[in-house]
Amino acid sequence: MGRSTAREDEKTALRALPSVDQVLKRLEGHEALAELPRVRLVAAVRECLATERRQVLEGLRAGRRPSPPALDGFVEQVVVKLSRAGVFSLTPVINATGVVLHTNLGRAILSPLALERLACVATQYSNLELDVAEKERGSRYAHVDGLLRRLTGAAAALVVNNNAAAVLLALESLARGKEVVVSRGELIEIGGEFRIPDIMRRSGAILREVGTTNRTHPKDYAEAIGPDTALLLKVHTSNYRVLGFTAQVTARELVELGRQRGIPVMEDLGSGCLLDLRPYGFPYEPTVPDAVAAGLDLVTFSGDKLLGGPQAGIIVGRADLVERLKKNPLNRALRIDKLTLAALEATLYAYEAGSARETLPALCMLTEPLSAVRRRARRLFRQLSATSRSVLGATLVEDRAQVGGGALPLVELPTMAVALAGRSAQELDRALRAQAPPVIARILEDRLLLDCRTVQNAEVPLLARALSRLAERFGA
Ligand SMILES: *Cc1c(COP(=O)(O)O)cnc(C)c1O
Repeated sequence: MGRSTAREDEKTALRALPSVDQVLKRLEGHEALAELPRVRLVAAVRECLATERRQVLEGLRAGRRPSPPALDGFVEQVVVKLSRAGVFSLTPVINATGVVLHTNLGRAILSPLALERLACVATQYSNLELDVAEKERGSRYAHVDGLLRRLTGAAAALVVNNNAAAVLLALESLARGKEVVVSRGELIEIGGEFRIPDIMRRSGAILREVGTTNRTHPKDYAEAIGPDTALLLKVHTSNYRVLGFTAQVTARELVELGRQRGIPVMEDLGSGCLLDLRPYGFPYEPTVPDAVAAGLDLVTFSGDKLLGGPQAGIIVGRADLVERLKKNPLNRALRIDKLTLAALEATLYAYEAGSARETLPALCMLTEPLSAVRRRARRLFRQLSATSRSVLGATLVEDRAQVGGGALPLVELPTMAVALAGRSAQELDRALRAQAPPVIARILEDRLLLDCRTVQNAEVPLLARALSRLAERFGA
């Protein structure tokens, strides 16, 4: 075939595709797309047309006769694509993974009170940085300062964007161009490719690694201290454990060494819990008050892990050190916003009022007795018709759930799930993720588990409906 004829064929084939305007006209008044701005429709139509064009040309080059879709089929394709994407990108999902603090699913969910405080500060002017009594400039940190001091026993507190920012700010303020002594066994990666050592280097601090992966002793730190040492650092190995022949230096031992040598000691606690969870069957974890009581000069932790609040980095400790962090220009770049601050204040208030365990969803889910999880799982199961159960191969199973969020990695929470085995686990998983709202479940061997520890009570009917729709589709 000559080159010019080939070009002609391509032109003819492409001319058979619908035009952008033709498709847009057909999309007008389509109910499912009512809230989508026109530019988004145009972009989607162009994208789909470009894909068609590519397929037509590839087909021609491979010697096939192009068969461009009819206008109806093409319009349908665009409608499905757009309605699946929805109006907003960031949107709720049902967490049926059983992982309570799932970083990819937004970690802790907020309490109703936190939401209420956040909403009222968001939609009205506030005293964010105004001392109303004196009509003077105030500090945004003042709104949580007293709460944090009372709850942790520390002399001073500061909050920033997240715990990684807290660590960065502390190191930059106290150890830029100087040495920080840290155990090799604590140089952890915290997920999303973020590594503690990388964050530390970014602060300009020089890492002095001591000890070995499994064992570090007080004398390792002592021998590493020199004229350039600015800080002794302990990092909670929150997302893993070295088991077997191990030795770690306790916060108290490190504090004693720091005192003798006149060097501040800091711990990145990671999750940072304010409550002792042992009464609920958890192993002992040093709480933030414990860390402060051990004499640490600075302690940092996250707002949205075990604390159960919004994303934030909390720093508590010695007043003079916290003041240096506050005054660091870097603090301005890492500062917490007013919505987070409002939600954080409400979260901390729950601890002070003694209602944290009953009102903070993360703590509720973590401490909920198995009997209550079982009840929720049975309620979900009962809401499925006998046909749905049979099509989906649904059964109730007991399993173990995880805390997540790099907290308590060895803890397994007893839980109950609705297990599906009517199709391959991958197929069921894909179909449930395509639901509105998407359902994120856990694959265990060849079954798909809907873990009811992390499913909210209000989500049970939604989840049952999603499962019934799925059964209808698979049963048909
Ligand atoms: C999770 C974690 C961090 C990071 O906290 P973010 O709030 O996600 O920035 C840092 N250090 C440790 C030990 C952690 O577990």
